[in-house]
Amino acid sequence: MENDEGRYVKQPDETVLCILNVPFTTYTENEVIARCTDYAMDQKPHVVITAGPEFVMHAQRDPTLLPLLEGADLITPDGIGIVLAARFHGHSDLERVTGVALAEKLLAQSAARNFRVFLLGASPESNEKALNAVRALYPELVVSGRNGYFDATELPSILEQIRNFEPHILLVGLGQPRQERFIWEHRDALSVPLMIGVGGTIDILAGTVKRAPALFQRMHLEWLYRLLTDPKRWRRQLALPQFAYLAYQERLRKGS
Ligand code: UDP
Repeated sequence: MENDEGRYVKQPDETVLCILNVPFTTYTENEVIARCTDYAMDQKPHVVITAGPEFVMHAQRDPTLLPLLEGADLITPDGIGIVLAARFHGHSDLERVTGVALAEKLLAQSAARNFRVFLLGASPESNEKALNAVRALYPELVVSGRNGYFDATELPSILEQIRNFEPHILLVGLGQPRQERFIWEHRDALSVPLMIGVGGTIDILAGTVKRAPALFQRMHLEWLYRLLTDPKRWRRQLALPQFAYLAYQERLRKGS
């Protein structure tokens, strides 16, 4: 549906589940990929946010994130914490849709459909490695990128670089919530059909950060793996018990 300004706006409907005021899509991963593929072929800009408990906690503290949440076309549940909280609301089958899975599947789609992809974010070395890895995997894919360490003076040239490349899909890995703000602030200037904040995905594509081993993934313990391999994250991960507490309180309030 479009509003008066011609911008696509999400309809509140049964495909949305609000957890602590964040409207998550209840689409499966395949459905999200299908929607994203449609967005990538559209003329207008679309924004997808992948949100885990940390992002939900940011949103509780920072009301300036509310317009971003309202304006996003899709917010996907990126984390087992969201999936478990959904069970409090009677949604026992909410599927996790992570930024890295979305990025990997959309890169495959892009190769098949000739979408142009721009990767913005990570260190210069990591961005370069990610581009090389993606080109090795999909030689036919038109992909470009730029590292995510820049100051305000470089912003105009970065926006111009992305605009000139005319990507169908822009994957932004600057960390949350900076990447979501970047997309939101520049969505009209960039005018890219599909823009997604993907966190540390560029490092994973590059191989500079390893994904949690399959066993950790199966047991939904990626958060523990990240904590063990990067103990500096402990402060950020305090958001997890806080999120669990607030989500449980919400369940008690709603009596579901
Ligand atoms: N990053 C960046 N510019 C910055 C700060 C961070 O490009 O100014 C990158 C960083 O190199 C990493 C990503 O942003 O590739 C953030 O990864 P993280 O795993 O912290 O993502 P999140 O947990 O926020 O999804």
